Amino acid sequence: MKVVFLGPPGAGKGTQAVDLAREFGIAHISTGDMLRSEIKAGTELGKLAQSYIDDGNLVPDEVAVDIIRHRLEKDDARNGYILDGFPRTVPQAEMLEKMLDEMGTALDRAIYLEASEPVIIARLSGRRICRECGKIYHIENMPSRSAGICDLCGGELYQRPDDQEDAIRQRLRVYKEKTADLIQWYYDKNLLTRVDADILREDTYKELSELFKELQ
Ligand code: AMP
Repeated sequence: MKVVFLGPPGAGKGTQAVDLAREFGIAHISTGDMLRSEIKAGTELGKLAQSYIDDGNLVPDEVAVDIIRHRLEKDDARNGYILDGFPRTVPQAEMLEKMLDEMGTALDRAIYLEASEPVIIARLSGRRICRECGKIYHIENMPSRSAGICDLCGGELYQRPDDQEDAIRQRLRVYKEKTADLIQWYYDKNLLTRVDADILREDTYKELSELFKELQ
């Protein structure tokens, strides 16, 4: 099962993908998570990516495509995967299609998690992440048991620099300018399915889980 998650930042792509990947035994591949680990490890790639990410802009297409190419070659991607945050531009989608074609395969679905702007802003501004294990929380909708501390590993919770107000506005601008076109692009290829992501997280999950069962 090879699936792409589309949708604005804050639609819940990462949160849903973690649980679906576990339920269906497939890999969760998030280019944002991979770039954040490069930043944390202080690599050359991390240094290059940091200013783009902190300001809410996209890293260059070649950088994103390069990381995905290496990731898709890993063993755990053989059973299938959810791509979360990739592709983010039409050129990336074209390169992905070509890359998969060369590997003798293709995507099964592009799932669009549709969410409205007020919901997105509330989710992003209240989001907190564990510095150690990456688990996602929300100060109101999904708080940790003890404020500022991860329930799973005891790590410190932090706010992503790009979840601050100015960067959120820039990310939404970039989404509308560069990423939203992918919805039409996948629709034209007969691959698009829309899912309501404005509702409760559990209800969206049920819909997604049913869809994944059909794809299995
Ligand atoms: P995310 O965790 O998906 O919200 O991604 C965080 C940031 O990483 C984005 O705002 C971009 O700066 C960068 N990023 C992640 N995926 C991509 C991609 N496919 N293309 C370009 N930039 C990306």
